[in-house]
Amino acid sequence: MPQSMPADLRAWLHALEAEGHLAVAKAGASLRHEIAAISKHLEREKALLFPAPRGERGAYDIPVVTNLLIDRSSVAAALGVPDHGVLTKFLSAAQKPIAPVEVDRAPVQEVVHKDVDLEGLLPIPTHNELDSGAYITAAVLIARSPETGVQNMSIHRCQISGPDRIGVLLLPRHTHAYYRQAEKQGVHLEIALVIGVHPAYLLASQAIAALDEDEMGIAGALLGRPTEVVKCLTNNVRVPAHAEIVLEGRLLPGVREPEGPFGEFPQYYGPRANREVIAIDAITHRRQPIFHTIVGGGYEHLILGGVPREATLLQHLRRSFPNVLDVRLTRGGTCRYHLVVKIDKLNDGEPKNIMMGAFAGHYDVKQVIVVDRDVDIDSAVDIEWAVATRFQADRDLLVVSGAQGSRLDPSADEGMSAKMGLDATAPIGTLGDTYRRIRVPGEAEVDRAAVLQAPGGAKDYLRALLDG
Ligand code: MN
Repeated sequence: MPQSMPADLRAWLHALEAEGHLAVAKAGASLRHEIAAISKHLEREKALLFPAPRGERGAYDIPVVTNLLIDRSSVAAALGVPDHGVLTKFLSAAQKPIAPVEVDRAPVQEVVHKDVDLEGLLPIPTHNELDSGAYITAAVLIARSPETGVQNMSIHRCQISGPDRIGVLLLPRHTHAYYRQAEKQGVHLEIALVIGVHPAYLLASQAIAALDEDEMGIAGALLGRPTEVVKCLTNNVRVPAHAEIVLEGRLLPGVREPEGPFGEFPQYYGPRANREVIAIDAITHRRQPIFHTIVGGGYEHLILGGVPREATLLQHLRRSFPNVLDVRLTRGGTCRYHLVVKIDKLNDGEPKNIMMGAFAGHYDVKQVIVVDRDVDIDSAVDIEWAVATRFQADRDLLVVSGAQGSRLDPSADEGMSAKMGLDATAPIGTLGDTYRRIRVPGEAEVDRAAVLQAPGGAKDYLRALLDG
């Protein structure tokens, strides 16, 4: 991307289009389930723009966009690295953040609405069958610490509870910590919800950083230059100047209202409960803005959380085990619960130490499979093959009972969970003989265009051969 072009949603849509990864739906798709249905159907193939989306109040001028990340290659492209460089890039960005620069005038403030009517103005979809209603799902929530003024970026599910009211789920992380500080003093917490940004911001918001470490700096490092931010009009929060839409608001002290159910990443509904509430004071946006939504539990949701967690787990494991080559949180494991660790094994027994290290690395990790360097950890088939042929349950299985796990895993007991480790590595020194994989020389290098006749060739050849 040329340095003169801002790294915003529009630049990313141009990049997707140039690669043939962007499709435009027919105008007038329904906000209620239809946009989600089409998006999920194509979630591994295309980013989608939905012109003139239709809601109960009619059609909107503002298009909806979905599926900004369709595979690991699109994550790599968003970060400007080859596929194998994603985790390293993420780690180096987290270690060397680039602070944002503040500007006075910003595209995201071209249009200002002080009379707030969320669903009157914005095309906000309803995704899963039992969701309580319309949700803003792709907004980066930016909060300012009331004590230090340092900002935090995170993503939360935001239920539309009224024209200017949002019910929000705050897990016990940084935004929640800032909110508790404010609530203790009996004051609101200033926030902004930022919709429609380059995927680097979304990925940065998921970094497992320290409290009071601004993820905006990680976004800058992912993009290789400082991000431009502008002060909100009704509060002190700084938001990306080239975002599409910003909702300026406050997390209210002492207020809890019903929120949920909502379809979540484990492919189940998060339940309805009394949760925190945001009041929106102003909406600003670019001229002709684009509204980004993420389908709850869809691939984009999974991969956005998965990649930053993988980077953190890789770093954590390499401190003790420098021979860890790569890690994956598998899609079937909801990109959270099941980890595969690829190693260049130096000692028998080491896989079990690595399993214990991984369980300690993040409480969500429930299953660890350790494999050798000859296994493709992007392939569920290859991983199962390693278990099928290198694992013996009475010897290679580790089970830990009663540990902390994910509260969103319905099989866990209030978050109490068992852990399972599978050592699917071959005994040391055997990959060259007993455990040598069969291989057809040249298979990996086959160039279809060079070796196959043109389409239609089969018909012609068959006719000549059989009717000859
Ligand atoms: Mn944080």
